[in-house]
Amino acid sequence: AENTYLQLQNDRESNAKSYPRRFPLVIDKAKGLIITDTEGKSYYDCLSGAGTLALGHNHDVIIAAIGDVLEKQIPLHTLDLATPLKIAFMEEIFSILPEGLRDTAKIQFCGPTGADGVEAAIKLVKNATNGKSILAFQGAYHGSTQATMSMSGNLSKKQHLQSLLPDVHFLPFPYEYRCPFGVGKGMTAKISTQYIENLLDDCESGIASPCGVIIETVQGEGGAIPADIEWLRELRRITAERGIPLIVDEVQTGIGRTGTMFSFEHAGIVPDVIICSKAIGGSLPMSVVIYKEELDQWKPGAHTGTFRGNQLGMATGLATLKYMKEHRVLDNVKARSEQFFEALNRLKATYEEIGDVRGRGLMIGVEVVDPNGQKDRIGHYPPCGELASKIQESCFKNGLIIEVGGRRSAVLRFLPPLTITAQETAEVLSIFEKSVASAIE
Ligand code: PMP
Repeated sequence: AENTYLQLQNDRESNAKSYPRRFPLVIDKAKGLIITDTEGKSYYDCLSGAGTLALGHNHDVIIAAIGDVLEKQIPLHTLDLATPLKIAFMEEIFSILPEGLRDTAKIQFCGPTGADGVEAAIKLVKNATNGKSILAFQGAYHGSTQATMSMSGNLSKKQHLQSLLPDVHFLPFPYEYRCPFGVGKGMTAKISTQYIENLLDDCESGIASPCGVIIETVQGEGGAIPADIEWLRELRRITAERGIPLIVDEVQTGIGRTGTMFSFEHAGIVPDVIICSKAIGGSLPMSVVIYKEELDQWKPGAHTGTFRGNQLGMATGLATLKYMKEHRVLDNVKARSEQFFEALNRLKATYEEIGDVRGRGLMIGVEVVDPNGQKDRIGHYPPCGELASKIQESCFKNGLIIEVGGRRSAVLRFLPPLTITAQETAEVLSIFEKSVASAIE
């Protein structure tokens, strides 16, 4: 039966998905970290709906929240109208905001996807400033719609699409391991800061002035690349001095993934605009944009949309936020993160093929390299997508689902549930070690 399902999917579903995920399994059910296929085989799922499932699959509190909505006959669809549930969700979101936003920020519910939130954020800052151009980062990923693609750093994917948003300038992301300036550790962030200041000086003297800078503080699809903390502070300083809104795309990093509720907290900075999706919906589609009051210059009805009142998503989002607070899930993220890094760094010391281990919290990347290739200027071997894919396949056979991403798809990515236990982490790491060994041999 499984093959029939898969055959139909392979024959009739377009391959134009945003990610090339073709794991050959048909999922029957899932709970926590584990998914079980129709043949009864189970897998550890360290993809978590592309970083969506903060509490893992079908957590009891998520199931209960959905049941509660149904039982109380809360309408499933309410457009933008108020419900007590929506107000409670808003209050819970405000409660986790940093000072400077907590008591005054505005929130806008957007269409159901991360890209909807990014689109809304860009329109918002365009509307509030006189700026036209957008500053984005090399290696960034913000979605697959026309505008979000134009801000994504993967140029190959968009070369066939004419007339995406013009006036997007790409800034160098401080990717230490593959420094865009060809210099070694410690220098990347400094040079990148200087580069950005120079570019903004040029803007002031002529190029279309920017309406905002959009950034992921840890690039997700780009390969789990954390931005230097001091550099983030510099970016905040530079944008604040010039009055350019700083938009932090927290679609993947947000709601605890990096060990703090929002990833910008690691740098102690406060952005002007925050985009959240994925985890904030507690497994269901949801996106919101949160921003400084003074940017709220919309005219009534200036940015409308039908599916913004998804009460089920608000219920599951609220349940997630409450659970995380009550069960100190962030503490678990930090402890499990250390456990991952300790083991992965040991692997890196063992295999030349493991070039870099990086990330923040439970957003972790392992860059696979080719030791037979020519070293770059910094002395690192070239990325090796073929081996990464082989390791991913080997993991799958051994019952572990992980993602690949980054340049040449050479980065193996772990996005486990934030509630993963020490025991589960040990099992995941043991499968990974075994799979790396068998793929490399
Ligand atoms: N921004 C970031 C940082 C993302 O990781 C993603 C999705 N991976 C998006 C935006 C787009 O979200 P969606 O796929 O829901 O449109």
